[in-house]
Amino acid sequence: MEQEVEERPAPVEPRVEAQSPQEQQEVQAQRKLLGDVDPSTSDAAAVAKLLNVDPSVGLSSEEAKRRLAKFGPNELASAPPVPKWKKFLAQFKDSLVYLLLAATAISLIAWIIEKAGGHAEEALPFDAIVIVLILIVNAILGYIQEAKAEQAVSALSEMTAPTTNVLRDGRVVRIATTDVVPGDVLVLAEGDTVSADGRLFAAASLRIAEASLTGESVPVGKKPETLESAKALGDRTNMVFNGTSVTQGTGRAIVTGTGMNTQVGKIADLLSATEDDSSPLQKEMDHVSKILGIAVCIIAVVVLIALAVMEGFHTTQDVIDSLLLAVSLAVAAVPEGLTAILTVVLALGVQRMAMHHAIVKKLHSVETLGSASVICSDKTGTLTKNEMTVERVVTPSGEVQLTGTGYAPEGNLIGLDGTAVVDPVRHEVLATLAAGALANDGELRAGDKPGTWDVIGDPTEVSIIVAAKKTHADRAFQRFQRVAEIPFTSERKRMSIIAKDTTDNGDLTVFAKGAPDVLLSFCNRILVDGAVRPITEGDRQDILHAVDRLSNEAYRTLGEAYRPLETPKLSAVPGMKLNAAGQAADVAEQADVIEHDLIWTGMVGIIDPPRVEVRDAVAEAHRAGVRTVMITGDHPLTAARIASDLGIIDKGGKALTGEQLDALPDEAAFDKATSQVSVYARVAPEHKLKIVESLQRQGNIAAMTGDGVNDAPAVKSADIGVAMGITGTEVTKESAKMILADDNFSTIVAAIREGRGIFENIRKFLRYLLSSNVGEVFTVFGGVVLAGFLGISQPGTQGVTVPLLATQLLWINLLTDAAPALAMGVDPMTEDVMNRKPRKLTDRVIDGPMWGDVIYIGIIMAIVTLIGMDMHLSGGLFTDRSVDLQGHDAQMVEARTMAFTILVFAQLFNALASRSHLQSAFVGLFSNKWLWGAIGLSVVLQLVVIYVPALQVAFGTTSLPAGAWLECILLAAVVLVASEIRKIFLRIGDKRRQHA
Ligand code: ADP
Ligand code: MG
Repeated sequence: MEQEVEERPAPVEPRVEAQSPQEQQEVQAQRKLLGDVDPSTSDAAAVAKLLNVDPSVGLSSEEAKRRLAKFGPNELASAPPVPKWKKFLAQFKDSLVYLLLAATAISLIAWIIEKAGGHAEEALPFDAIVIVLILIVNAILGYIQEAKAEQAVSALSEMTAPTTNVLRDGRVVRIATTDVVPGDVLVLAEGDTVSADGRLFAAASLRIAEASLTGESVPVGKKPETLESAKALGDRTNMVFNGTSVTQGTGRAIVTGTGMNTQVGKIADLLSATEDDSSPLQKEMDHVSKILGIAVCIIAVVVLIALAVMEGFHTTQDVIDSLLLAVSLAVAAVPEGLTAILTVVLALGVQRMAMHHAIVKKLHSVETLGSASVICSDKTGTLTKNEMTVERVVTPSGEVQLTGTGYAPEGNLIGLDGTAVVDPVRHEVLATLAAGALANDGELRAGDKPGTWDVIGDPTEVSIIVAAKKTHADRAFQRFQRVAEIPFTSERKRMSIIAKDTTDNGDLTVFAKGAPDVLLSFCNRILVDGAVRPITEGDRQDILHAVDRLSNEAYRTLGEAYRPLETPKLSAVPGMKLNAAGQAADVAEQADVIEHDLIWTGMVGIIDPPRVEVRDAVAEAHRAGVRTVMITGDHPLTAARIASDLGIIDKGGKALTGEQLDALPDEAAFDKATSQVSVYARVAPEHKLKIVESLQRQGNIAAMTGDGVNDAPAVKSADIGVAMGITGTEVTKESAKMILADDNFSTIVAAIREGRGIFENIRKFLRYLLSSNVGEVFTVFGGVVLAGFLGISQPGTQGVTVPLLATQLLWINLLTDAAPALAMGVDPMTEDVMNRKPRKLTDRVIDGPMWGDVIYIGIIMAIVTLIGMDMHLSGGLFTDRSVDLQGHDAQMVEARTMAFTILVFAQLFNALASRSHLQSAFVGLFSNKWLWGAIGLSVVLQLVVIYVPALQVAFGTTSLPAGAWLECILLAAVVLVASEIRKIFLRIGDKRRQHA
């Protein structure tokens, strides 16, 4: 393994080239700091000296600022951003656009030749100019959309930017990881990501997972001891490396290199600025675009052939007009902007989610969110408030309550019946609380404002400190000084410390606290009325009954115990392993030697009120076909009680424990259990992974919350890994797809609602865009194939009469594609998206019913447009309404203007109709002001194109009389009416299906 690392081909060279000159300079400056000194084989103090830092104080903030400027930000080089002009030009990168430009060039050449011959009809090559202008405007719109989406994405990544704890000016501060500089002192704790390379100078039970760097899957134990000789990366046990993660313990290290001057900087590939993360939805969009593109191109070719066969090409102008029409049709009708709009809509949605405390790291997680079918949630802090108060203390001689709420250490000890508490209970309570407050990593600090209190560390632990202070039990422990700790982990469910009695001859004592049912099994004695005696089976039963009783009342229980070691020397403890220097080796690894023969003192019952809003969120999720599952390390009865209080299970429902899970014989039995059980208690993080995998095997899309470092695998495996923003570790946040800024379960449900809404909106604009484009295609196709029938081509006339001009088609595309489609993407929810089952991820976005909508609307749109046209032409089905117009050409201009306008208006009515598959457009008709703004804008622009003389020439339009306008609006409105009628039938069908 180590060999492999050493033998990696030196990829340093190309990377250095890819770096900017400034980045190279910064790396050089960093290398000069240490020169040839290998920090792993030098004394930590010497390294500190070279780096000019006092390890106990850290750098000063001014010095850190100076170093940041000199050595550069602590980040890996990424590919330089694509310049703006390139991004703009990329908008034209489309084969259909190339084709259109080619056709336009041909028309321009034809115009020049005619002009030279002196018989050009037009003073300027209007078609060519208009087409190019429209293409430019289109590109600008596309560019703006893309920029907007990029902005949203980078705003998100700023929100999830990693942070690091360092020592500066003598205090531990949390800074942005990019601000770490050489010489900084990293303060490492379990769950942290190491954010630079550094030399350890202090460590306690420190273990670091270096798989990302060395491929070694087992975490490496780290110690500050200087190495005798240079070692391979995986064996440099006194060094920590950028990008690795702390799985256990604590440590401090002096940063020796940052950014590209780290080991990972040497081996990582260039991080490209744009990662490829095309989602199922994007893939489907690409697919649909492609299929439609082919279909539209075929139709365009058919149109071209039909024009040639039916009407015959007589002049070059005929050919050019037909060619331009066919190519423009293809450009207008192929929804090439789908993916861009999709990205913008997702990005806007994700921004909205972030405002509601749900930070989604990748755009496409939104799709998955909308499909979630089960949410696995932690209990403590997510479903509950994590505001812990010790309310009960149960000791061998009795049970008492503690008054006072919150963390203010003000309250009294009273009996359950309100009477004063006397010895022996009193004495036992004090011993219990003292043990709990000693075996404790929490801290209660007076807040900045008088009367406020800051909780440092785990609220469970701090609640015991508060209780100890209320009863003045803390006085008993001031004489103890901690010398070693065996930390709490969710697997062990207990913690112990070893403390020295400073008043005595310095004898050591073990103090332990943990889940009572667990801790009790390590006790063989009990403290009753000041005397220690062997614990009896009866004592055990009493204690376990008390645990059940408290748990049933939703109390979180915690037992306390102790054991005098009867020696002042750790090394004298029987069974203790010693290191080379004759001292106790890593105590945390010797839990077995310490945690046995304990003396039980009592237990506390801690109340942690459920979050009030969670009950509603659970109910909403349930309505939406999303099951809520609670997974906790807490006692099964506590878990079941809180779960039933929150509506996760029925009253009297039971929790399954980790032990019971382990006892299941096979996968089938496990899957059967997870399909039914919604509360898991006394589980370890490894169970989370098994549960999530089992749920996924059954076809669920599972969300899973986590905070601790051990939760990371489960969070990573879940379809939607959710990390806690406040209590979560860096490692978990990195594995997650979503971060809850407020740690609140309701936020997950809100995110699911939002995700479904975004998805619904995507369907809305797809329905709109596709039906509009299909309408355009059908209109042109019908206009060409039915030209004689409709009076478009007159008997006796020669040459081609196109139903719509190329420029008109492109204009429609410009007007209706961008603004209304985007407005629809931010539509307020019209339907109750939480009222139906989650969508399967494999379900097509554009399903059968949606294609039904699209084709139906497309046909209606073409019919009304062609009718409107025919009405203004002599011949055809309908009488000519433009009697005063002389000649077919003049009539054609007006008829085209009609068709042009009807088509635009039909799209606008279609926008209203497309907001729902089933629901009437009149429900919440005015709820989307963006859409109405877009509609208003389109109408105004259409008027401009029809009435401004210069534009009349450019777009081949003419002013319409008032009567004609009425016809336009009425005909276009048929689209809405027809859609309403269809929806009535669809709704009836839907009801029948629901009843069946
Ligand atoms: P959860 O986070 O789901 O509530 P934990 O793994 O934190 O579960 O806790 C499991 C059990 O371990 C608790 O019910 C409690 O009895 C015990 N416990 C929790 N925190 C501590 C702690 N800091 N020290 C000792 N025991 C603890
Ligand atoms: Mg916990």
